[in-house]
Amino acid sequence: MARYTGPSCRLCRREGMKLFLKGERCVSPACPFERRGFPPGQHGRTAQQKLTTYGLQLREKQKLKRIYGVLETQFKRYLEMAERMPGNTGENLLQILERRLDNVVYRLGFAPSRKAARQLVAHGHFLVNERKVDIPSYLVSPGDVVRVRDESRDLAIIHASLRRARGRELPWLQLDKSKLSGTVVEVPKREDIPTPVQERLVVEFYSR
Ligand code: SF4
Repeated sequence: MARYTGPSCRLCRREGMKLFLKGERCVSPACPFERRGFPPGQHGRTAQQKLTTYGLQLREKQKLKRIYGVLETQFKRYLEMAERMPGNTGENLLQILERRLDNVVYRLGFAPSRKAARQLVAHGHFLVNERKVDIPSYLVSPGDVVRVRDESRDLAIIHASLRRARGRELPWLQLDKSKLSGTVVEVPKREDIPTPVQERLVVEFYSR
């Protein structure tokens, strides 16, 4: 599956906010956004951006894609899925993105960022319901149990990340630290998804 391989920090500067794409570095003084919070490029520091409605919708769409590390084709596929589901399309879209296995691994605290989670999953370090799943875009469902494979229990990145993730727990995921596993309790409600985007604008972008 294709993924963005360019500089992550540039994306934060483009979106005008910290997207927390790099784990520990994002909460340290070394975060480039702290020093250069203006857009990247030659005119980034001076250009005055007054966004049109289209521009606002575009920025929210780009922000959401970048937070979850999803490229356009797959993002559109998720939107089509969200439209087919009952209820609010924007909330459905967020729920689908949250249910991605790489996101769940990150939310449970097994990885410092979604990018790291994606790599851990792709390298086969996780089981879902006791079966190895190495597809980061795999969508989990309520009742699923995500567990670190026995052979991977000693991975330092997982333990360091779990220590730092203390207090980041979400009500729709139940972490069992001793077993290095997490259960998906339910599909998250909007208020349980701490993603700072206006999903309504994203849906509007594609309805033009
Ligand atoms: Fe964004 Fe993290 Fe880079 Fe800071 S360190 S600019 S939050 S990706």
